[in-house]
Amino acid sequence: MPTYEFSCKNCDHKFSVFTSITQKKNVRCPSCSSGDLKQLFNNPFSFLKGAGSCQIPPRGGFG
Ligand SMILES: [Zn+2]
Repeated sequence: MPTYEFSCKNCDHKFSVFTSITQKKNVRCPSCSSGDLKQLFNNPFSFLKGAGSCQIPPRGGFG
């Protein structure tokens, strides 16, 4: 699965998530739980940076 970069429109928190393309619309901000996100550029090597990244499990108990 690819890593997607997002910026939260609510609190301006930037984070990356490791999820499938079908689940990325369900991504929530890890800081404020807002779903109002802006997707940033897709950097395929962002996972190598490690620091600052946040992984959200898809469908992790929301349903
Ligand atoms: Zn937020």
